[in-house]
Amino acid sequence: MDNVTHAALGIAAGIAVRRAGASLPAAALAGLLAGEGPDLDVFIRSAGDPLVSFRWHRHFTHSFAFAPVWGLLAALISAWFFRRRPDAHWRDLFLPGLAGALSHVLCDACTSYGTMLLWPFDTGRYAWDCLPIIDLLATLPVLVLAILAWKKAAPRLAVYGLVWFTTYALLGVWQHARAETALRQWFASQQVTRRTERVAVKPTALNLVVWRCVWLEDGKWHTAAVRVMPFMAPQVILGETRAALTPQSPGLPAAGSPAAVIIADFSRFTQGWNSFTADGSTVLIGDIRFGMLPTSAHPLWSVRCEPNVPSTVVIDRSLKPGDWGRFGQMIVGTHPDYVSLR
Ligand SMILES: [Zn+2]
Repeated sequence: MDNVTHAALGIAAGIAVRRAGASLPAAALAGLLAGEGPDLDVFIRSAGDPLVSFRWHRHFTHSFAFAPVWGLLAALISAWFFRRRPDAHWRDLFLPGLAGALSHVLCDACTSYGTMLLWPFDTGRYAWDCLPIIDLLATLPVLVLAILAWKKAAPRLAVYGLVWFTTYALLGVWQHARAETALRQWFASQQVTRRTERVAVKPTALNLVVWRCVWLEDGKWHTAAVRVMPFMAPQVILGETRAALTPQSPGLPAAGSPAAVIIADFSRFTQGWNSFTADGSTVLIGDIRFGMLPTSAHPLWSVRCEPNVPSTVVIDRSLKPGDWGRFGQMIVGTHPDYVSLR
């Protein structure tokens, strides 16, 4: 999730769990610092490893086990900052810091990227797919309430902010389930039997209405946008397709070669949601779960492997003219390609 949201949640969580008598501004600062701490992992760099960010972002820094470390660091910094105040002892600021760190990892787990909540006991990446990476409706109320709670010294407002955010995430869980049901209903309405193997339903930017659906069928990834609004029939747009990576895909690097190792590591991150494109002797293995548009089969990130050249990561955020307009039409439901499900 974006860092404004993490700041707002961290402040609100820090204030909400503050012990009576402890400094409210110091608790808010501890929550804020710990709420931002986990994303310091973006500074983990390695010149020789193109996958470094996929490996380390949302890794141990985003686990329950590491949260007390962020809580302690934030408590010490906040206590130092407010060192002239007798009510800002680090021991009283540890819990606000811990709450700030937990707000960060739980919030990230609500999105689609994958967060190692249970490291080191389990290195699975948890993605609850109920919140987009940026959503103003989720963020703005909690931001305003967190700032007011701090400025007016009103802890109640911080609790309201957390309740709002949690309610919104639960709405996302419900909408996600509705979108998946609608997709399966659409499958069932087809004349041909669809041999779908894997199905993923992901939130799209800025809303809980349109969902990106991806599924594997006959060796190809298929995409669709599914729009679910309360009291309205779901709407579906069938999107683009792209070949799936298989061990038989042509032109793959030889087993054991550096490029093959990169592909295997990337595949661990994508959990096998790999698309395959070949251009001459260059192969592009993409993460089909993410695209700029719900109906796009152009992965947001891929690895490019070519003979005798080190493999690289390709980030593709390109949009065609009019794509934002088309996405807007998908959200409001006026896109001409929508099919309504009765
Ligand atoms: Zn994060």
